[in-house]
Amino acid sequence: RRAAFAALKNVPPVTKDGTRITLMVNAGLRDDVAALDLTGADGIGLFRTEFQFLVSATLPQRERQQRLYRDVLDAAGDRPVVFRTVDIGGDKALPYLDHDDEHLEENPAMGWRALRLALEREGLMKAQARALLEAAAGRTLNVMFPMVSEPWEFDQARALFEAQRKWIAARGRKLPHEVRYGAMLEVPALAEVLDLLLPKLQFLSIGTNDLTQFLFAADRAHPKLALRYDWLSPSILRFVRRVVEPARAAAVPVAVCGEMGGRPLEAMALLGLGIDRLSITPAAVGPVKAMIRSLDLAAFRAHLNACLQHPPTNLRASLEDWATAHGV
Ligand code: PEP
Ligand code: MG
Repeated sequence: RRAAFAALKNVPPVTKDGTRITLMVNAGLRDDVAALDLTGADGIGLFRTEFQFLVSATLPQRERQQRLYRDVLDAAGDRPVVFRTVDIGGDKALPYLDHDDEHLEENPAMGWRALRLALEREGLMKAQARALLEAAAGRTLNVMFPMVSEPWEFDQARALFEAQRKWIAARGRKLPHEVRYGAMLEVPALAEVLDLLLPKLQFLSIGTNDLTQFLFAADRAHPKLALRYDWLSPSILRFVRRVVEPARAAAVPVAVCGEMGGRPLEAMALLGLGIDRLSITPAAVGPVKAMIRSLDLAAFRAHLNACLQHPPTNLRASLEDWATAHGV
C-alpha cells in the first residue's frame, strides 16, 4: 500500500467526478518543508510557528524567526505557505516567557493562550509580524490567527500587522507584494458571528482539534475521553456545514487543518460538506489522495445530506458501508 501511495505523488487530488481538492500539509519546523516534495502536496496550509519557540531554550529573537520563515518560503517556492502566529501559553508554557504566575490555570486549553496572549504581549507579536513581513519581501504572505473568539481580536491582530507594514515601508524596505489575512475557527462562539467576520477575511481554516474539544466540552488530551466522541458525529458535521455555507456565499475559502482531515473516512465526510481544502499531516497525504481519487463526490454528498437529516445510530458505520459499497 505504501508503494501505491507513493505512486500517487505526481497525480492531482481530483475526485472521480472532477472536483479538484487542494491538499496541503501541516508543518512546524524547517525540515518539515521536505514533506512538500515527498508528498507532492499543494502547499503548507498550517505552519505552526510556535514550534520554534517550544524547541528553544531562550526566546527566539526576530532575526532567528525571520531566517526560519525565509527558509521555509524559499523551500516552498511557488507553493503557498500559511503561517499561523504563535499559539503559546496555556499548556504550551515557555520557561523563558514570564507567565501570569498570579493566576494558576486550571483549564489551560481555555486559558491565556494564542491570540489572547499575543495581543497583550505586544512586543512578541510585533517582532513576529516584522519577521514574517520582512521574510516574505517580494512574495505573498499568508498570515493566520489562532483561537480567534470574537471579530475584534482579528481586527486588532490585523491592525498590528498593518502598523508593522507601514513601519517597514517608511524605512524604504521591501515588503510582501500581498498580505492575506485569515482566521482559525476553533472556538465555537466565532461561528455565531461569522457573518461579521467573513467580510474581513481572505481565508478561514477550521481547527477541528480544538473545535471538537470545545464543542463537546471534552479535553482533547484526556485518555478517558479520547474515544468517547467521534469526529463523525452529527454535531461536528452539521457544525462544519453551517460554517461552509456562509463562507462560500461570501467567497471566502475554507480549509480544515485539524487531524480530522488526515483520516480518509473523515476527510470524505468533510468533502461531502463542501470542504475542498485540507491541510493534513504529511503521512496522510497518500491515503487521503487515494480516497479522493476514488470518490464520486456528488453521489456521496446526497447520501451524507440524507444521513445528517436523519442521523443513523452509528454514523461512522453508515459512512464506512457507503464507502465500501462504492469502491472508496
Ligand atoms: C486545531 O486546533 O485543530 C489545530 C489545527 O491547531 P492545534 O492542533 O495546533 O491546536
Ligand atoms: Mg488549535
